[in-house]
Amino acid sequence: MRRVVILLAVFCVCDGVKFGQLCSGNPTNRRRTSDSWGSGHYGARRENREHKGLDIVCSDGSIVYAPFDLTLQGKLTVYNDPNKAAINSGINLRGEGLCFKLFYVSPDRTSGSLRKGDRIGTMLPMQRVYPGITSHIHVQMCDRSNPTQYF
Ligand code: ZN
Repeated sequence: MRRVVILLAVFCVCDGVKFGQLCSGNPTNRRRTSDSWGSGHYGARRENREHKGLDIVCSDGSIVYAPFDLTLQGKLTVYNDPNKAAINSGINLRGEGLCFKLFYVSPDRTSGSLRKGDRIGTMLPMQRVYPGITSHIHVQMCDRSNPTQYF
């Protein structure tokens, strides 16, 4: 009986949800690896904390797409630091049973629903705040769990 429970738990984690293309110019959702500002994987070390998202490469000004059918759950503020005002917005989203956030995106709309491939908005000018960084969208689950399995 115990073995059955464990198998079901694994099955739920691997239920096959995958993100479609998030950003124009990056059809394979290529990830930010490492640059002078840090690494893009989940759990990467930051100055005084852990990186709780996965960074997907996205050039400044690119179009950001719905990775699957989803609903818009309102705008979010990434930073309070006025020096980072140029990139301090994002969007809360739900779809495919997932609750997640995209950071550094200026959304066209903040409510309603979108189909896979529809435009969410525009990638903000990250180079202005972090010169030389690999510009990227930060994907973060609402419960701060690891989103890597969905890519
Ligand atoms: Zn990140």
